[in-house]
Amino acid sequence: MPHSIVTRRDVIRYTAGRVAIAGGLTGLVTMAFLVSDLGTNESALVPVGTVTHASMILALSVSILLSGVMSYRSARLMQQLALTRAELLRVSRTDPLTGLLNRRGFDEAATALLAQAAAAGQRVVGLMCDIDRFKAINDRYGHDAGDRVLARIGDILRDFGARNDVLIARHGGEEFTGLMIDVGDEQATRAMQTLCRLCSTKVSGGGVDVPVTMSFGLATHNAGCDLPSLMRRADQALYRAKDLGRNCVVQINDLEVAIAC
Ligand code: GH3
Ligand code: MG
Ligand code: MG
Repeated sequence: MPHSIVTRRDVIRYTAGRVAIAGGLTGLVTMAFLVSDLGTNESALVPVGTVTHASMILALSVSILLSGVMSYRSARLMQQLALTRAELLRVSRTDPLTGLLNRRGFDEAATALLAQAAAAGQRVVGLMCDIDRFKAINDRYGHDAGDRVLARIGDILRDFGARNDVLIARHGGEEFTGLMIDVGDEQATRAMQTLCRLCSTKVSGGGVDVPVTMSFGLATHNAGCDLPSLMRRADQALYRAKDLGRNCVVQINDLEVAIAC
């Protein structure tokens, strides 16, 4: 079975087995065809044309059949390999609890978006947001309730991101990141205020209603600045939002800090 091919020795054993099967089959089919076509009398005289004909038909049929079967099997294996590789790539970039991109997936997607936006001269706003007092939620309602909150917040962020063209990811723990392309500062702040209100909710399950809020930090991208420095500034804005009492949006750009609670 191809599935049990792991070592180089397995590869050689598998190949030798296939070669033996192909050689044996070719010998058998050739023998059967020649005996039925030319008879069993070894000293019988037959026209050269008949032998040439028979040999050509035989060689062509056997090689077409064998190469067809082998190629089809190899192609199916390569297809399986490609699908498995694509699935592994998807899993390695996805957060299992929320289904959002994870940090690695975000970094790749955001770096590509940033380059596109720079080429097109579009404005970019980076986002960091974080569930408020999440440790207290875990402590009071339990880890499972905390996970339900993360999953629900993940759903809200994904829906909002899909409707408003915001790249969203789970950065780790109860922290999420985002990137908005081609938006002005005010537009970005208004969008995040709406998201902040959507995230101010109660998550029900396991017989409890858990009240949740989130804080948001935004930073405007400056020409020439890379993704890590953009997200660092968004993180500074998030710290300000926490300092200001949480459940609010803070935006920083080079000139000013805008607070929208
Ligand atoms: P703040 O408002 O300042 O952000 O306070 P906080 O309590 O939210 O922040 P803190 O960093 O003190 O606590 C974060 C907690 O998140 C601690 C950690 O146990 C919990 N956490 C991280 N990942 C998960 C997870 O996947 N599931 C659950 N249930 N909890 C998690
Ligand atoms: Mg938190
Ligand atoms: Mg945190």
